[in-house]
Amino acid sequence: MSCVVGLKCRECGRLYPKEVVFVCEYCFGSVEVDYDYDAIRRTLTKASFATRPKSLWRYRELLPIEGEPTAGLTSGFTPFFRAERLSRALDVRELYLKDDSVCHPTLSFKDRVVSVALTRAQELGFDTVACASTGNLANAVAAHAARAGLKRYIFIPADLEMGKVVASLIYQPTLVAVEGTYDEVNRLCAEIGAKYPWAFVNINIRPYYAEGSKTYGFEIAEQLGWRVPAHIVIPAAGGSLITKIAKAFKELALLGLVSDSRTKLYAAQATGCAPIVNTIKARADIVKPVKPNTIAKSLAIGNPADGYYATKAVLESGGWAESASDDEIIDAMKLLAETEGVFTETAGGVTLAVAKKLIEQGTIPRDEPLVICITGNGLKTQEPLLNRLGQAARIKPSLASFEAALSGQLSGAATRG
Ligand SMILES: *Cc1c(COP(=O)(O)O)cnc(C)c1O
Ligand SMILES: [Zn+2]
Repeated sequence: MSCVVGLKCRECGRLYPKEVVFVCEYCFGSVEVDYDYDAIRRTLTKASFATRPKSLWRYRELLPIEGEPTAGLTSGFTPFFRAERLSRALDVRELYLKDDSVCHPTLSFKDRVVSVALTRAQELGFDTVACASTGNLANAVAAHAARAGLKRYIFIPADLEMGKVVASLIYQPTLVAVEGTYDEVNRLCAEIGAKYPWAFVNINIRPYYAEGSKTYGFEIAEQLGWRVPAHIVIPAAGGSLITKIAKAFKELALLGLVSDSRTKLYAAQATGCAPIVNTIKARADIVKPVKPNTIAKSLAIGNPADGYYATKAVLESGGWAESASDDEIIDAMKLLAETEGVFTETAGGVTLAVAKKLIEQGTIPRDEPLVICITGNGLKTQEPLLNRLGQAARIKPSLASFEAALSGQLSGAATRG
């Protein structure tokens, strides 16, 4: 019952069978999953969704699997809500958050891509999965592979946050910390992948993996009552999520599930690693790699695999891009927590800080529907917050001590609100 036709080169359009192909052997373009949309349109309607599971598998016709899902059965269908207090702080009329930092097995949007990748890896006959990761992917591959009973090799830069290291190790993968940047880790993994018969989720089975990101876009449209927002601010690491949100909205329009797919996409990166933002601002064709230096480690990819396509998707949509400094990232993490009770990781700080900047610039109008993408959980990136949030008021276990503290000895953040 699969609706997948095969794989298609994004450059020359050449078709490949739905196997392990990730670059076009004729033009070296990257390949993408292609579906039989006519067949899908005949059976998939808004009513189809009424009885489906509240997980990302409710969109299974638009996912690159053949049989039943075998990994990440509970991933997806995360909260989407109107952010009233934040919209007042930013002075915009209609603001929503899509919050992938909660309700997912490993608390980031990587649960989506990995659920799809591991299901497909098993269909393709792999018993071992692997990845190069900036942290969240490591957590998701480690967890979902454990549950699926797959062997797992995980490669990370050696300077990752403790939270991301622990949240990988608990699942007992072979965790390899490489002394280098993510881009060096990724290069090494390409070499290892050429020698070992493993499914590297974001390398040799990347075309399948990347499709999982579409579900983030499908859910936004469905949760908005089957419409797409006018504006959406998206964090970018490799740039894949941007391209897949664009693809998701286009597919829904093609299937008649939304009437309009015109959404302006905005890319958000940290100033210390902004190769995609730089390319968009220069309206250039070639993404110039950078050497990352930012607290937003999950987004610290200096040579983004989908940078070119992300740039194209943003510019074609009429959107734009901005970057945020480390201080702006932390301020935005605090603002989100104080206004909406959402503790996001540094990547979410990047997205909110960039949204704020684009609104203040007048690039995003204040009176049109806007979605901000929150993609990861703050408990995993605590280091940059240490010493930035004030302290707990320390007292003796007595009422007198409490009241002494209350009457003016408290200081800083701990006394507020
Ligand atoms: C990986 C990641 C992203 C961006 O993903 P790409 O598709 O590589 O651009 C965004 N947010 C978080 C928290 C991530 O871990
Ligand atoms: Zn090609």
